Amino acid sequence: MEHPLHIYNTLTRKKEQFVPLHEPHAGMYVCGPTVYGDAHLGHARPAITFDLLFRYLTHLGYKVRYVRNITDVGHLEHDADEGEDKIAKKARLEQLEPMEVVQYYLNRYHHAMEELNVLPPSIEPHASGHIIEQIELVKKILDNGYAYESRGSVYFDVEKYNKDHNYGVLSGRNIEDMLNTTRALDGQDEKHNAVDFALWKCAQPEHIMRWPSPWSNGFPGWHCECTAMGKKYLGEHFDIHGGGMDLIFPHHECEIAQAVASQGDDMVHYWMHNNMITINGQKMGKSLGNFITLEEFFTGNHNMLHHAYSPMTIRFFILQAHYRSTVDFSNEALEASEKGLSRLMEAYSHLQKLQPSATSSVDVKGLRQRCYEAMNDDLNSPIVISNLFDACRAINSVKDGKATISAEDLEELKDVFHTFIFDILGMKDEASAGGNNYETFGKAVDLLLSIRQQAKANKDWATSDKIRNELTALGFEIKDTKDGAEWKLSN
Ligand code: ZN
Repeated sequence: MEHPLHIYNTLTRKKEQFVPLHEPHAGMYVCGPTVYGDAHLGHARPAITFDLLFRYLTHLGYKVRYVRNITDVGHLEHDADEGEDKIAKKARLEQLEPMEVVQYYLNRYHHAMEELNVLPPSIEPHASGHIIEQIELVKKILDNGYAYESRGSVYFDVEKYNKDHNYGVLSGRNIEDMLNTTRALDGQDEKHNAVDFALWKCAQPEHIMRWPSPWSNGFPGWHCECTAMGKKYLGEHFDIHGGGMDLIFPHHECEIAQAVASQGDDMVHYWMHNNMITINGQKMGKSLGNFITLEEFFTGNHNMLHHAYSPMTIRFFILQAHYRSTVDFSNEALEASEKGLSRLMEAYSHLQKLQPSATSSVDVKGLRQRCYEAMNDDLNSPIVISNLFDACRAINSVKDGKATISAEDLEELKDVFHTFIFDILGMKDEASAGGNNYETFGKAVDLLLSIRQQAKANKDWATSDKIRNELTALGFEIKDTKDGAEWKLSN
């Protein structure tokens, strides 16, 4: 394909041209949510970042297979408080099946994603549904000599692996330093080395989520699921693996080690990572307790929020920063996004009513090209948005009679706006999409009255009376004025 899309590859630390392995197909895998609580603003960022990529690749003509997993197997390593699996803990406290907890939060996650206009992935595999594939992966790594069994658990032998390969290739961490700082700590540990990570964990008696394996009744280590499911659905080699920057180490570093140890090379061609959302300069997250859930944003029900923010305000706020920059949350920043978005939507609505002239003083072709150049430069959505704001100024100038646009340019401008705002940035017009039903309803009544006005002008009294009588019968009060008609709903 002709499009020179460049994306930043975390592994090579360079922007590289995107050339898929199997054109016109493109495969992308993104680490999805762990479902034991409501999605917060931090979850919205990877979802929206990779939705932007999914939409853009699709727009460019690729047939994209987008896999985003659901982490629903508890992981001891991942838990800071008393070592109990978080899903199981929630299930025990609320007397639910663990899968009830998973389904409850998954339904809520899907609802929040739909509100944010995040397209569903092509495949959404659950870790708990791929235990067999994960056991196969662990067996391969054991057979190849890069893992060892210890008291029913299986650990990845990082030191051995690092002798033959490079552990730390993605994160840039130095394994020698890690071995030196952690070696003293592992006296009675079942691991040979503190840096070794679990491929399979033998379950403690109180652990509810458990499966049989050749080593013990237990559960797979967290890193296994993405390697196993990525391979199952996208093959041994696929194009893009994404996730938040906080997953680079250890999660994605371990995924690379598992792939190399099981099949001899990494599965992933381009590693992509979005930056974090901060509150007062600190990462927003459950473990830090400083998060605001998406539902709280949509309802305004949180003491840090001045008022409710619509899903599209949140989406626009996230897209106004480049995905590799941090975004600091504040009410002021969200309010600025809210204003910017309504300016854009207003201009889009003015655009539909502009009258063409014989001449054009608006550079529409240049606008389209600058928007594509920005997207091709590692998905630079803030530059796309600033170009669209320039176009808003041009639209307003034409509307105010200070500039002109030809019929051809007008059609092209409508197309550029629609393509970039709705198809690629994935915004939706909340007013016309049912976000404000009253406004939509009002527009429909205005439309009927304008048809009636037209009928009167044509002396088509039958139609004019029919519209008036039927609206009156429905409970509207219609009052004729010198430029048309006004209406209100009578009590
Ligand atoms: Zn993952």
